[in-house]
Amino acid sequence: MRDIPDYPKPGVVFKDITPLLADPDVFAATVDAVGAPFENDRIDKVIGVEARGFVFAAPVAYRHRAGFVPVRKPGKLPWEIEREEYELEYGTDLLEIHRDAVHPGERVLIVDDVIATGGTAAAAATLVERLGGTVVGLAFVLELEFLHGREKLPGRRIHTVVTYS
Ligand code: AMP
Repeated sequence: MRDIPDYPKPGVVFKDITPLLADPDVFAATVDAVGAPFENDRIDKVIGVEARGFVFAAPVAYRHRAGFVPVRKPGKLPWEIEREEYELEYGTDLLEIHRDAVHPGERVLIVDDVIATGGTAAAAATLVERLGGTVVGLAFVLELEFLHGREKLPGRRIHTVVTYS
């Protein structure tokens, strides 16, 4: 991974994961590490958060023989949706999920590349629970610990592969 200062705006250090994705061994090891703690859990669906979450959630779902479900930015999903608003550093944003993507009682793992302030992950968990799913846990490649994302996910099972403190 490499740090890109002041991207996409001044003051943000963007964690660019594209070198990790391009390396066959590192990519495979990272996918394995993201899903490993949940190997013995029954997982029905793995949620990927647009867009970089898709890259890890899909292979984790395949390994678990679970279904893959995209949680997307507004206006991207073609069918009936549930929508959740969440806070950004400045302002708010929306996440959407198809209404039939998770069935009541299904066990769900949420996957994204980075947990920063935790708002995105908390919104994804809210959407899953609104559809009647159970959030088994949340898994991330990278945690930016200094942004205290875990505080938005109290009591949840959280797994991160690499932590920046
Ligand atoms: P947050 O809701 O603050 O936890 O932000 C998490 C989402 O924003 C994830 O989907 C990440 O892909 C993205 N993100 C936030 N901060 C960064 C960062 N410094 N580098 C790369 N991606 C980030």
